[in-house]
Amino acid sequence: MREVYNFSAGPAMMPKKVLEKAQQELLNWLDQGTSVMEVSHRGKLFMELAAQSEADLRKLYNVPENYRILFLQGGARGQFAAIPMNLMGQKGKALYLNSGHWSATAAKEARNFTEIDEINILETDPQLKVKRLDFSDIAEQYDYVHYCTNETISGVEIVDIPNVGNTPLVADMSSNILSRGIDISKFGVIYAGAQKNLGPAGITIVIIRDDLIGNARKDTPSIWNYAVQRDADSMINTPPTFAWYLCSLVFKHLLAEGGLKNTEECNLAKAALLYDYLDSSKFYYNTVAKENRSLMNVTFTTGNDELNAKFVSEATACGLQALKGHKVLGGMRASIYNAMPIEGVKALIEFMKEFEQRNA
Ligand SMILES: *Cc1c(COP(=O)(O)O)cnc(C)c1O
Repeated sequence: MREVYNFSAGPAMMPKKVLEKAQQELLNWLDQGTSVMEVSHRGKLFMELAAQSEADLRKLYNVPENYRILFLQGGARGQFAAIPMNLMGQKGKALYLNSGHWSATAAKEARNFTEIDEINILETDPQLKVKRLDFSDIAEQYDYVHYCTNETISGVEIVDIPNVGNTPLVADMSSNILSRGIDISKFGVIYAGAQKNLGPAGITIVIIRDDLIGNARKDTPSIWNYAVQRDADSMINTPPTFAWYLCSLVFKHLLAEGGLKNTEECNLAKAALLYDYLDSSKFYYNTVAKENRSLMNVTFTTGNDELNAKFVSEATACGLQALKGHKVLGGMRASIYNAMPIEGVKALIEFMKEFEQRNA
């Protein structure tokens, strides 16, 4: 079989070494004679896996002592509801920064639970560009400020951290968690569904500052209550053990490859190759302002729907999979998460050049 590169936005590519390791120990995990998915989550070995995965993630991301890490279910969308249920306090109002599809969807869900103000921070003409990140003048009136660090559909990434004074900042990092180093202490809560950059679908990471736990409204279901989950080590019910195991392998893999410093360098190099090529081409274009171009999701189009469809179908036939843009946007999208090797990006660029020559 020829080499296939999978540019899916999510569930997305996993590191090959991780899949090989999982394959190796699938039938016999740690000499138990069973797989990891068949043993009790309360058993000694799984509890050790859980503790080690947390320790590895702490080390990778430099998570300060006064932050908890929860391993939950329900995906990012579950957190869209859990955030307002857990964080609404005295002020009775939250601020949502809207930079595209996912931040808007989070705001919509939050409205079911609380009063919110929503501010559009995205300029769309002539380019997609984040126009405002300083909210220090108004943040104080809110229980928290929510935003999305990487809009997966449009490929808009917000690298600079919004200024919200002392108000807790909540970030949906589903599609760029662990893609580069960040200062966790600037955040109140970070959350991410695993299926883009961490592992398979089915597990959700929440990194939360201690003092923000314990204020959930009374009718919060226990599985969404951060204090209940903290006290139960994220195991108030059966956790998705196999997904957790795969995440633990991904964390180990990233540490073995040199940690986030290495990850960030690779991601910068991959994205630079692709954006430089897009900038040099008169056939394809990308409409995101330079400072907001996502390292993870690179969107581009020929400007012609028929050509776009032809591109996607011919690329697929060449082993370059899942390049079709999200249905709300059209065009193409190459998701180049941590697991995508630079060879995949080079293969894509080779194909793009060749397609351009034949169709320009
Ligand atoms: C994929 C994605 C979501 C939705 O995640 P689920 O785990 O499917 O709920 C939310 N936010 C962002 C930024 C995403 O990329």
